[in-house]
Order: sequence, then C-alpha cells, then structure tokens
Amino acid sequence: MALKIAILGSGSKGNCSLLSDGRTSILIDAGLAPTAIVKRLSDFGLDLSDIDGLLLTHEHDDHIRAVEQIAPFLHVYSHPDTLDAVEKRQRVPLHSRMEIGEEEFSIGTLDIRPFRVSHDAAHPFGFSVKDFETKVTYMTDTGYVSKGMLSVAKGSDLVVLESNHDKDLLTRGVYPYYLKRRILSDQGHLSNEESALAAYDLIESGAKRIVLAHLSEQNNLPELAYWTTENYLSSKGVTSSDCALEVAKQWSTTFVDLSK
Ligand SMILES: [Zn+2]
Ligand SMILES: [Zn+2]
Repeated sequence: MALKIAILGSGSKGNCSLLSDGRTSILIDAGLAPTAIVKRLSDFGLDLSDIDGLLLTHEHDDHIRAVEQIAPFLHVYSHPDTLDAVEKRQRVPLHSRMEIGEEEFSIGTLDIRPFRVSHDAAHPFGFSVKDFETKVTYMTDTGYVSKGMLSVAKGSDLVVLESNHDKDLLTRGVYPYYLKRRILSDQGHLSNEESALAAYDLIESGAKRIVLAHLSEQNNLPELAYWTTENYLSSKGVTSSDCALEVAKQWSTTFVDLSK
C-alpha cells in the first residue's frame, strides 16, 4: 500500500504531519495545539492510540508545542540530544524515549532514515520514510541543502521541502537584526530562492511531487513561495507532468495520496 501524508499544519506557527501506509501511522513533529492535532487526526478516523510513533526533528517550539500533552500516549523518537533538550524545555521527562542516530530503523511496516540538517538546534534531523512502494522525505528547518541530504532524498516520490521566506520581505521587514541574521545563516531557514534550487536537484534525482512547507507568516506568502519555485523550474524546462508542486497550509490539512 502506498504512503499517504497529511500535513496537519506547517509554517512558522507550528508543524505536525501524519504519515501512514494503512498499517503503520506515525507523526513527524507535534508543534500544533494538542486539540488541533486530535481534531485533524479524527478527520482521518484516527486517534492518538492509532499512532505508532512520534518523530521529532528538533526542539524548537513550533515542533514540540503539544509534546507534553500527547507524549504520554506515544513513543517519541529523536536524537538523544534533542530528547534531552525537549525534556529541559518542558521540565518533565518523556514517558517513552526512543533514541535514534542516523542509521535506518523501522516502526511497524515503515523504514525510517534520519539525516542531519543544518539548523540552530541540539541535533536537528530530517527524515526519509519508506514503505514497500513509496518514499517520502521531510526536510525543513535547514539553512542549506547539502549533497548528503540530496543523496538520502534520492528517488523520493514526495519531498516536503522548506520554503521559509522571501529574502526581500525578510530584509526589509520588522524583525530585529539578530533574528534576520539567524534566519539567513547556514543554520537558519531555506529562502524561496534556495528552495527552488533544491527542488530542481530533487526532481533531477527522481522526486515526483514537492510540497513547499514551513512558510514564515511574517516574511512570505504562499503565492510567492509557489511562483518562485515554479518560475525557476519552468526556466529549467520542468513541467507539471514531471513534478507536481504545491504549498502546505498552516491552519488546515494538506493531504497527499501517493497511490494516485
Ligand atoms: Zn527550528
Ligand atoms: Zn521550525
């Protein structure tokens, strides 16, 4: 059975995604309000007891907001440094710590390969998730996309790729200088322009669909993110039949069924 992915919400205000092949269901990050996560899972007939694991990319609030409330129901997978940082931020221990490195591991019928991304957190990860038929790569909160990241993502049917900000909106915007520097740094976030370049590389290595994600509410617009990548791909001769492009929503679910 092919993977289905429901991005329950993605952007600077919170991130949480559901991946399922119908037998195993996992969450990547839990950065929305707990009630929103429970409600949006229920749209798929699922509750927290149906979730076989929660993967955390890193410990920033927009990725862990609901962890304290929902973690008692779940095995929580991440690098030990991230799990330590989450416990420190919450001031309570996680009930079920599942420490992982960069080796592939399995949860039920899903094979998961964590990979290091470049971000100002304890030990940030992206994830590639495979079932028998399909592969999804989740790559957000990274200051750049390295050759190593591209090689892990190679052959993905779908890549969820950060397209955080428009550089002009960010540099001319209201954020304080230190924050602008942080976002633009190698340990910050991918701009629309950087995302467009990465999207092309990912398509060259087999990606059939790309969902642009983790948009800044302050320094981006969905149309701007979409057209920046779309224009670049068109200039390279990539058409919508080569790769479908869409933008993940912040306040509602973006659903992709890879069997179609
Ligand atoms: Zn972050
Ligand atoms: Zn984030």
